[in-house]
Amino acid sequence: MFGIKLASKESSKRLHRSSLYIEQLEDRIVLAYMFVEFGDNFPLGTLSTTQGAFRDVANDSVPGNRILGTQLVDAVNAFNAATPLDIVKQSFTLTNRAEMLAVVRRAYLPLNITVVELTAASQTTADGRTVASATSMTNVINTLRGGVVGSKDAYIFVATFNIGGGNPRTYGPGGGGNSPTSALDTSDLSAASNAHDDVAALYSAGGFSFNTMNNISHEAGHCFGLQHSITNATNIAEIDLFHQAEIMSYRNTNATTSSIAFTRYPMIRGDSNSPGGPVLNYNSLAARTGDSTLYDQLRTDANVGVNPNLSFVSGTGAHDIITITKSGAIANVVVQAFGDAAYSVPITVPGLGGTTYSYTIPLTQTILIYGGGSNDRFIIDGNLGVNIK
Ligand SMILES: [Zn+2]
Repeated sequence: MFGIKLASKESSKRLHRSSLYIEQLEDRIVLAYMFVEFGDNFPLGTLSTTQGAFRDVANDSVPGNRILGTQLVDAVNAFNAATPLDIVKQSFTLTNRAEMLAVVRRAYLPLNITVVELTAASQTTADGRTVASATSMTNVINTLRGGVVGSKDAYIFVATFNIGGGNPRTYGPGGGGNSPTSALDTSDLSAASNAHDDVAALYSAGGFSFNTMNNISHEAGHCFGLQHSITNATNIAEIDLFHQAEIMSYRNTNATTSSIAFTRYPMIRGDSNSPGGPVLNYNSLAARTGDSTLYDQLRTDANVGVNPNLSFVSGTGAHDIITITKSGAIANVVVQAFGDAAYSVPITVPGLGGTTYSYTIPLTQTILIYGGGSNDRFIIDGNLGVNIK
């Protein structure tokens, strides 16, 4: 289904960027976490809260310490802070969960974000938190605020959400989700910055689905400051295919693929830029903050950063030729995307023009390459001197 991965609307308001955001990546030591909550410890299967407590999760005099949640409206599209909101655990087999989490972890592997599946039993994170599935919103707050001060995490509920008594509005069957739209502060999505701990909702009726699997990564992507790439179909097959490997595009919504990631290739902005039919501005990029790719927006965010043990290379959802060539202590990466498996219909690079996208990577650590779907050709120097996986 289209249009069900709702996100807060772009705000014209922009946060001023403090020196916090331009410090050297090498200086950062704070890990970001992404917690996935299936409801194992919900009392009798239901975590009872309110519309208000789920939207404005925790306030603080310091804006960056506020925990932003999600506004879910009731059956008459109303928001009343005191209206009951029941988050209802759904049924997943251990295999369902393991299959979905494996793909989510693959998507986040290139980044300095640790994915934690919350379970009934407590577990200890690398930064010293003792965490388990929540019994209350207080537990959620404690999980997010634990560990190293300053980490900006995401907490994703995968459940059904019933709002109001009597004839409640139910968010669940069919999937989709919603990312933070709190009244406490500008969302990280709007600010293009991972400035807060966030709580997001993912609607599920239980069981494995590609939609649910991909949406876990997608809603968390908003929590880490990313906006959408292509949303509605463009009616241009190669452009739709091209975006199918990108987590922040709706083009992956029901893709039966495990190939999605935050792509390291310029992707076109979605929402009002892809209202159906041809995109309005081919050169309007999904990535912001001066970066060309969504991966690079997260790479350059002082509160995210990359996996320190991997250099990341990705293709697109289309047919790619990826060439990695040694040049002294570094390697040159060139990615060419094509609309056909014969590599005869080159796709113009959004935002930058031309048909090749290039960057360099260090040759000091393992190179992680995600082809991104379709037929890809890899041309890699044999003397790089590092592992590739
Ligand atoms: Zn979205």
